[in-house]
Amino acid sequence: MTKSEDLTVVEGDITRLEVDAIVNAANQSLLGGGGVDGAIHRAAGPELLAECRGIGGCPTGEARITKGYRLPAKWVIHTVGPVWHGGERGEAQLLADCYRNSLALVRSQGLQSVAFPAISCGVYGYPLEQAVRIAVDTVREELKSFETPPRVVFCCFGEDMARLYRNELARM
Ligand code: ADP
Repeated sequence: MTKSEDLTVVEGDITRLEVDAIVNAANQSLLGGGGVDGAIHRAAGPELLAECRGIGGCPTGEARITKGYRLPAKWVIHTVGPVWHGGERGEAQLLADCYRNSLALVRSQGLQSVAFPAISCGVYGYPLEQAVRIAVDTVREELKSFETPPRVVFCCFGEDMARLYRNELARM
């Protein structure tokens, strides 16, 4: 079995996915925002915000887990992607850390499936092709260290983004 069999690309709204956990591209406050973060909070309901308040924020590159409340997903993994400042401020490392730390929670909770949005690819302004390469490379590398790798879904808003992921997955 090759590891790539555990990676799929789905186009659509991450809040609709029936997976053990969806990943939220949150901000450091963990108190909600626009984009995918807003969509997740709206779909999960106010209990999610209440739990997030108790966490007290999350540094860039790290990840925290909460329940999914009204989402089909049982869990939400909140990670904070880097804002793109031109690439000289550790953005690549921080973005890779988001995927690594999210998968560390998947492992510690024994989850069997997880869906990632394109972290930092919205208002945080990361160049899309670079971000997609980091996402795919980092997830592939991390899955090697699982005894039973989880199913990983890259959930894309729009066909253009989905194509970038499919091309990247086909590259190797
Ligand atoms: P960031 O602040 O990390 O850039 P954004 O939420 O602005 O996060 O965007 C991250 C990515 O998530 C973008 O590619 C955006 O198109 C996508 N996105 C926005 N809403 C959803 C959603 N409901 N499901 C999946 N992806 C989404």
